[in-house]
Amino acid sequence: MSISKPRGTNDILPEDSLKWQYIEDVTRDVCVRYNYEEIRTPIFENTNLFRRGIGEATDIVEKEMYTFNDKGGRSVTLRPEGTASVVRAFLEHKIYGQAQPTKYFYYGPMFRYERPQSGRYRQFHQMGVEVLGTDSPAIDAEVISLGLHILTELGLSDLEVHLNSVGCPECREKYREKLRNYFEDDLEELCSDCQSRYDRNPLRILDCKNKGCQEYTVDSPEIIDSLCKECANHFEEVQSYLSSLDIDYIIDSNLVRGLDYYTKTAFEIMYTGLGAQDTIFGGGRYDGLAEEIGDRDIPGIGFAMGMERIILALEEQNIDLPLTTDLDLFITTIGQRAQETAFEYLYQLRRAGFKVEMDYLDRSVKGQMKCADRTNAQYSIILGDNELEKRTATIRNMETGEEIEIKLDNLVEEMNELIV
Ligand code: ATP
Ligand code: MG
Repeated sequence: MSISKPRGTNDILPEDSLKWQYIEDVTRDVCVRYNYEEIRTPIFENTNLFRRGIGEATDIVEKEMYTFNDKGGRSVTLRPEGTASVVRAFLEHKIYGQAQPTKYFYYGPMFRYERPQSGRYRQFHQMGVEVLGTDSPAIDAEVISLGLHILTELGLSDLEVHLNSVGCPECREKYREKLRNYFEDDLEELCSDCQSRYDRNPLRILDCKNKGCQEYTVDSPEIIDSLCKECANHFEEVQSYLSSLDIDYIIDSNLVRGLDYYTKTAFEIMYTGLGAQDTIFGGGRYDGLAEEIGDRDIPGIGFAMGMERIILALEEQNIDLPLTTDLDLFITTIGQRAQETAFEYLYQLRRAGFKVEMDYLDRSVKGQMKCADRTNAQYSIILGDNELEKRTATIRNMETGEEIEIKLDNLVEEMNELIV
């Protein structure tokens, strides 16, 4: 084949698609129980939304965005994440005028120009939640517990919750100075990215994936020691809410989101069995973001989890999801007239809610029986001239071999009896 899929993208074929659907269903179900509502936003936005909403000094905006001019000359970007769009929609539709908090979840494809590898793609999918309109530490704990709940409901275990607080802009200003002092003497030893981070945003040095740089961060000052009273209290309360739910967490002082609109709580859930791409989801509080995007002071918090990484973790932990593809009934036909009749019955049965199938390739009876087997049909029925004449047929339970005679005209009712 001469044309193949773009680098870093995946086709999700039906077998995998079932897994995706299952995970999406569980996700939606859990979100609804926590009283979150689904929001859907466009998959492309004005580029400026992401520049402001993610921050110029981030990997995403610096290197990873799919940005292009449309035919009208506007710069648009395929969304690399969901938060900026959700906050934009919240502001644009003046949702802040309604009773708060607003609790949203979303799901969909995201696009980042990255070097593709296991767990890292150019089109990937995130499920995320955002809560706007409250800075209550209870909500921080709720958001973390919700994410964890989804993963445990899917059967995943050995997950680590990493937690930190990045304080408010005032705490961070103090902390930045401490970090600059700390790294000053070793600046030459850091990678070139970190050298430029030193001036622009030294917090991001803590986040560097480069092993060499990581060694220099081991004894670096911790932000927790620079938190103001309010941020320290908030962090304490988040922890005590998590403890009240028996959720274990690891305080990870290198877990930072360096931008000014990220505030207070930052967290990630990791599964170390995933190797280099071990973070399943990450999130945090962004009390300054609505101000940045739309000049409104509205607190918010959220997380985003990578669907592909959930699937990798499920595979790594050998978890079989309870997926069913089985047919309720396969109709085997002998001859043209039976085929036409079966075709009508299929329609009736499908309208009555059954998953049913017949043969469209003029297979032999034996061939059709094989199809019934292959499709894991629970029941099968054979229609030929004889059956049509007598208006009766035999339904066979494919598992037990048990057979029952039925009146053809009662097929739908009989199926209703058999399958509850
Ligand atoms: P990383 O450090 O792995 O690059 P990130 O900080 O860029 O992650 P976020 O922007 O916080 O990631 O996105 C949240 C989640 O989305 C990640 O934890 C991960 O599960 C998933 N994710 C991010 N980028 C990709 C990608 N390119 N391919 C697949 N999943 C991704
Ligand atoms: Mg990244």
